[in-house]
Amino acid sequence: MSAFLKLLARNRLALVGGIILLLVVALALVTPLLPLADPDVTRTADRFKRPFSDGALLGTDHLGRDLLSRLLWGTRLSLAVGFAAALVAAVGGAAIGVVAGFFGGRTDNLIMRGVDMLMAFPYILLALAIVAALGPGLFNALIAVAAVNIPFFARNIRGVTVGIAHREFVDAARLSGMSTARIILTEIVPNVIPVIVIAMSTTVGWMILETAGLSFLGLGSQPPQADLGSMLGEARSALITNPHTSVVPGLMILVIVMSINLLGDGVRDALDPRLKSGALSRPMAATLVDRRAPVPEPKAEGILAIEGLQTQFHVKDRVYRAVGGVDLAVKPGECLGIIGESGSGKSVTALSVMGLVASPPGVITGGAVRFEGQDLIGAPYRRLRDLRGRRVAYIFQDPLSTLHPLYRVGDQLIEAIRAHRSVSAGEGRAKAVELLRSVRIPNPESRVRDYPHELSGGMRQRVGIAMALANDPDVIIADEPTTALDVTVQAQILALLDDLRRDRGLAIVFITHDFGVVGQLCDRVAVMYAGRIVEEGPTADVLGAPKHPYTARLIACVPELGAGKRRLEAIPGLPPAVDRLPEGCAFADRCAKVQPDCRAGEIALRGDGARAVRCLYPENTASREVAE
Ligand code: ADP
Ligand code: MG
Repeated sequence: MSAFLKLLARNRLALVGGIILLLVVALALVTPLLPLADPDVTRTADRFKRPFSDGALLGTDHLGRDLLSRLLWGTRLSLAVGFAAALVAAVGGAAIGVVAGFFGGRTDNLIMRGVDMLMAFPYILLALAIVAALGPGLFNALIAVAAVNIPFFARNIRGVTVGIAHREFVDAARLSGMSTARIILTEIVPNVIPVIVIAMSTTVGWMILETAGLSFLGLGSQPPQADLGSMLGEARSALITNPHTSVVPGLMILVIVMSINLLGDGVRDALDPRLKSGALSRPMAATLVDRRAPVPEPKAEGILAIEGLQTQFHVKDRVYRAVGGVDLAVKPGECLGIIGESGSGKSVTALSVMGLVASPPGVITGGAVRFEGQDLIGAPYRRLRDLRGRRVAYIFQDPLSTLHPLYRVGDQLIEAIRAHRSVSAGEGRAKAVELLRSVRIPNPESRVRDYPHELSGGMRQRVGIAMALANDPDVIIADEPTTALDVTVQAQILALLDDLRRDRGLAIVFITHDFGVVGQLCDRVAVMYAGRIVEEGPTADVLGAPKHPYTARLIACVPELGAGKRRLEAIPGLPPAVDRLPEGCAFADRCAKVQPDCRAGEIALRGDGARAVRCLYPENTASREVAE
C-alpha cells in the first residue's frame, strides 16, 4: 500500500489532482458544520447579487438564494450521487463479468448478449428512458446512471476473468477441493480488484457529469434541492445577463472532474503491475551506461571481446550485481560455450553485448565490449542499431514467444532483412525461401506462408536461426536455443549450427546449462557462477579435468548414458543472491573444500594460456593431471 502511494505521488499531475479532490471532498464533508445561509430560502429582493457583495460571497441566484451555500450543498450531493453510482455500477458490473467469465459457455453467452443489448442503445438515451420510466428524482437518476455504466464494467471484468479462469492456480484451487464460490472469492476476485479500481477511477468523473446532465434536464434533483447540474440548469436563462450564476457551478464541475481524471490516470499507472518494478517510463533504446572505472585496455583478440563487463540492476535502493566483471572473447569460426546454473548471469552478459538489457533497471557500470576492436559500451544508439541483427545476431530460447503470432514466418524473415537493407518484395521472398532452405526446413516455398503456430517447436527454432542468419552476421549469440526442445530435435539444431559456423566462419557464443551440448559443439567453455567466470578453457580439458570445485560438482550432476549406475551428486545449497554477494569466493558456502582464506577477499582468475580458474585450491592440478 505504501509502495502504491509512493508510486502515485511520483506522478505530479496525479498528486495535484488527488490534493484538489481531497480538498473538495473535505469541504463537502464539513458543509453542515459551516455557518452558511439556508440554501433553499428565497429572498426575491436580493435577486442576482454580484459575487463578493455583503452577506453573499458568491452572490445570489434568480430567487435570491445564497450561491455559496447552494454550491457547497450541491457539490456534496453531486459527489455522493456520482460515487454511489460508480460503486453500484462497479460492483454490479464486476459481479456480472466475473460470473460470465468464470463459467463461460452458455452462461457467458446469455449474460454477455444481454449486456450487448444494453450497449446497443446510446447510453444517454437509455438513461433518459430509465428516468422517464421510473419518474424524475435524484435517486432514480442514480439508478439510471449506474445501469448504463454496468455494461462497461461487465465487459472489462469479464475479459480479465476469462484470462485467469483457466490458469494453473485456479486449477490447483479446484484440485484442493475448494468450492466454486470460494474459488471465485479467494482466487479470482483479488486478481480483478485492481482492474475494477482502475476502471472506477477513470469513470467516476464521467458519472458525475452524467448525473449533472440528468439534473440539468430537470430529471435529477428536484427544486428546491440543489445539485451542480440543477444549478446549471436553473442558471441557463440568465446566462448572458448574470453569468456568475452559471460560472460558479460550472467551475466546480470542471475542478471535480479534472481532479478525478488526473488522479484516475495516476492510479491506473501505479496499479499496472508492469509498471511496478521500474519507474513510470518505457525501457530505453539501449542499456544505460554509467562507467565509474576507466575503460580497460584491449588485451584479448577476436572478433568479439568482452572485457571486465559489469552489469547491475538498480531497483529502488538495491543493487543486483548480475554480471560482476566478465572477460570473454571469440574468434571467427569459433564456438564459445557459456555454462552455469540458472541465474548465474549468462543471459544478462549476452544481452549487455548489444545494449539490450532493459533500462531501467539495468545499468552497465564497467568494462568494455569490443567488436572488431571498437568499444560498443556507450556507443551511439545508431551504431548499436546498425550492428544489431546485421553483424551480431541473437537466437533466444523460446521461439514461440520471439516470433510474432499474427504474421507469416516469411514476412517476419523479410522484415528482419528490411531492417538493414531495402529489398523488393520478390527479392525478399526469394531470400526468405533461401534462408529457410539453409536451415533445412523441408518444402520452404510453402512454409514461408505458414504462421508460427503451424510449425513444430524444432521448426520454429529453425526459423529463429534463419532470422538470425538473415543479414549474414559475423557473430551469433545463442541463449539456450535448445533448452525447450527434445533431444532429437536438439541434436539436429546443434548439427545445423555447427555446419553454419564451419561454412560461413561464424563466431558463436552458445549459452546453455547442459554439459552434453557444450561437449558436442563448443571449442572452449567458460563456467559462470554468481555473475563471474570461475573457470575457462578448451572444452575437452575443462570437461576431462575440471579445476574449480564448482565445475567438478556440476559435471558430477550429469548422468552418463551407458556408464552404469553412479550416484548423482546434487550441489547442496543455493547460489548467493546477487544483491548480497559474500566477500571472497561466491561458491564458498557450498564448497566441500572451503578454507578460511577463501572468504578473505577478492580471488583472481588465474591461468596459463588457454586455461584459467578462479580458485585458491583448484582440483586436478598439473602434478596430478591425467593425460587425455
Ligand atoms: P541466467 O544465467 O539464468 O541467464 P540471468 O542472466 O537471466 O541468469 O540473470 C542473472 C541475475 O540477474 C539473476 O540473479 C537475476 O535475479 C538478476 N536479474 C535479471 N533481471 C533482473 C531485473 N530486471 N531486476 C533485478 N535482477 C535481475
Ligand atoms: Mg538465461
